[in-house]
Amino acid sequence: MNKVCAIFGGSRGIGKAVAQLLAQKGFHLAIIARNLDAAKATASQLGTVHLALSCDVAKEQNVQDTFQEIEKNLGHVKYLVNAAGINRDALLLRSKAEDMVSQLHTNLLGTMLTCKAGVKSMMQHQGGAIVNIGSVVGQKGNSGQSVYSASKEGLVGFSRSLAKEVGRKKIRINVVAPGFIHTDMTSSLKEDKLNKMIPLGRFGETSEVAHAVLFLLESPYITGHVLVLDGGLQLLI
Ligand code: NDP
Repeated sequence: MNKVCAIFGGSRGIGKAVAQLLAQKGFHLAIIARNLDAAKATASQLGTVHLALSCDVAKEQNVQDTFQEIEKNLGHVKYLVNAAGINRDALLLRSKAEDMVSQLHTNLLGTMLTCKAGVKSMMQHQGGAIVNIGSVVGQKGNSGQSVYSASKEGLVGFSRSLAKEVGRKKIRINVVAPGFIHTDMTSSLKEDKLNKMIPLGRFGETSEVAHAVLFLLESPYITGHVLVLDGGLQLLI
C-alpha cells in the first residue's frame, strides 16, 4: 500500500526538508501551502508521484476539500505532518489583535482542523500517525513571543489529548519542538548572539528536524510525546 503523507507547510523551511526526506524513503506526498506555485516547485523537485495543493489551514472547508483531493489523487492519508506556522513577534503591549488572531488561527486552529480531517480519514482505514511541529518557546516562554508561545503550548495540550482520544484506533500523535532552525522564519535573528545561549553553539538545520519527524512517524509505540530538538537551549532558558 502507498505510504501517503500530507505535509502542510511543505513548500519551504522545515516542511520542505521533511518532504525531501520522506520522498527519499518512498512516501507519496501532498505538499500543501497557500502559495500554490511554491508548493508545485517543491513537489516537482521531488519527483512525479507527488501532489501540490493550495490550502489555508485556518479555513475548515479548504482543509476538508484538500483531504478529498489527496484521497482522489494519491489514496488515503496515513501520515500527516503539520509544519504550517507563522510568527508575529512583538511585546504584548505592542501586539495587534489581528496578529494575535492570525498566529492562533494558523498555528493552533489550523493544526486542529487538519488533524480533524486527518483523523477522520485514518479512522476509516487502518490507523496512522501525525507529527505536529511545536516549539521550545511553547514550553519555556520567550519575551516578545507570548502569543506565539501560547499557540505552540496549546498545540502540546491538543496533541496529547488527541493521542488519548484516538489511540485505540491505532492513530498516534506526537510533537517535535525545535529550537532555532535555519529557515525564512529565523533569517532576521542575530545568530551570533543567540548561539551563545545554545549549548551546541549553533542553530539547527531543517534536515535535522526532518529526521526527528520521520522517527516519530515510524515509531509504532510512541504517542503523546514531545521531542525537543534545540541543541540544548532549554537547559539554559
Ligand atoms: P517557514 O516560514 O519557512 O515556512 C512556513 C510554511 O508554512 C510555508 O510552507 C508556508 O507557505 C506555510 N504556511 C504559513 N501559513 C499557512 C497557512 N495559513 N496555511 C497553509 N500553509 C501555511 O517556517 P519554518 O519552516 O521555519 O516553520 C515551520 C514550523 O516550525 C512552524 O510551525 C514554526 O512555528 C515551527 N518552528 C520553527 C522554528 C524555526 O526556528 N524556524 C523553531 C520552532 C518551531 P505559505 O506562506 O505559502 O502558506
